[in-house]
Amino acid sequence: CILRPMNYRHAFHAGNPADVMKHAILALLLTRLTAKPAPFAVLDTHAGIGRYDLTASEATRTGEAALGIQRLLQAADAGSLPPAAAQALAPYLSAVRAVGGTTVGEPLTSYPGSPCLARAFLRQDDRLILAELHPEDAQTLKGVFRGDRQVAVHHMDGWTALKAHLPPREKRGLVLIDPPFEAADDFDRLVAGLALAHGRWPTATYALWYPIKDRAVSWHLHQRLEDSGIPKILATELTWNDDGRMDRLNGSGMILVNPPWQLDETLGQMLPALHEALGFTQGIAHVEWVAGERIA
Ligand code: SAM
Repeated sequence: CILRPMNYRHAFHAGNPADVMKHAILALLLTRLTAKPAPFAVLDTHAGIGRYDLTASEATRTGEAALGIQRLLQAADAGSLPPAAAQALAPYLSAVRAVGGTTVGEPLTSYPGSPCLARAFLRQDDRLILAELHPEDAQTLKGVFRGDRQVAVHHMDGWTALKAHLPPREKRGLVLIDPPFEAADDFDRLVAGLALAHGRWPTATYALWYPIKDRAVSWHLHQRLEDSGIPKILATELTWNDDGRMDRLNGSGMILVNPPWQLDETLGQMLPALHEALGFTQGIAHVEWVAGERIA
């Protein structure tokens, strides 16, 4: 039995640039799923608490949302986003505003985590399955969705959830794997978890978040994914530090397996605009096929 740390609390980081990148892509994937009438299922293996109070001490102590979602909302409100990026970001920003209960021009006091964001896109026959291992966070999450028949909250290990809940009865859907990367082997578990899940439900779209600290680790991840034999894998990255320090978060990465058609082009417009709107003067937005289709 390996003892794993469980110190990570997302409340300190909600709405930061990494969350913005991850959730903006998630909203695009969910929007595409709603384009067809057949019901879909979403599995979120590391769900967190669902939504986050940006006025609480955890959030105000780090101030991370001010550098992320609040900045992006200011740019959107000022009309300074390029039209294609504004269109791509619209589903995300309207879901954020709807969950946060704010209108254009007001700062946000509450931010949706992936569960509340995904819930905003469900139609009446779609389902959301959530796994969260931290006992307190799982209880909080259960409270958020109590009485909601379309959402199942499980206090369980997210890696086990891939076995327990895949494939669902729906033919279409999305799996978000968003671990805290507290343990040294989380990259190994990510690759193994994807292989297992893809074997069970090959037609789903998968979104895997990873932190960018050491560039070599990201390249190694891409190499391992390319070697996995999974046919359609798109890697997206948003970085903001160039100085080579490895002891902090220098960027945010999302691996997309089976991304919807032309999402690579949409992301190729959205991510550079996000990089600029968040005021980054270093780093880059990058979209690259690791396996399968290539950008022309
Ligand atoms: N997906 C959330 C969002 O976008 O709003 C944020 C998730 S946060 C990065 C990672 C979460 O995983 C934390 O809430 C942590 O308690 C939880 N966690 C850690 N290890 C886990 C495991 N083995 N299985 C499920 N959840 C886990």
